[in-house]
Amino acid sequence: MLRVPVLEAAEPRTIECWLELIETMMPKPVTRRGPRELVGGDPESVIVRVGPTRIVIQEAAIRWNGPSHPERVGVPVADVPMRAPATRVTKLIARAHGRRISRYRWCPMCRKVMQPEHMDGSVCHGCRSEQF
Ligand SMILES: [Zn+2]
Repeated sequence: MLRVPVLEAAEPRTIECWLELIETMMPKPVTRRGPRELVGGDPESVIVRVGPTRIVIQEAAIRWNGPSHPERVGVPVADVPMRAPATRVTKLIARAHGRRISRYRWCPMCRKVMQPEHMDGSVCHGCRSEQF
């Protein structure tokens, strides 16, 4: 009998099933934030929200609400239906992680790799404030 590869699940996976699966696809450590959201990476790089009808994959970012009020935000990368194949979701998570990592910058003063929101021009916030 000819075996045809199954590209899409016959029935969409449940939210709980997806959450368990996606946890294995995410950069570690993975934390659950709310009933349907997973955040992965240290520092956080990927956010995935599951259900009720779609899976939303986001790149993690920081928005400054004033100099000492960072807020975690998500930048949309992709969203797919609940019956999307798991391999596609894996690729999109890897893409979101790659995008975030590619924005990191190296501070030539303290010689550390920083998240982009912690840079002030060519040096990091910490080094910039020590200059004054
Ligand atoms: Zn620095």
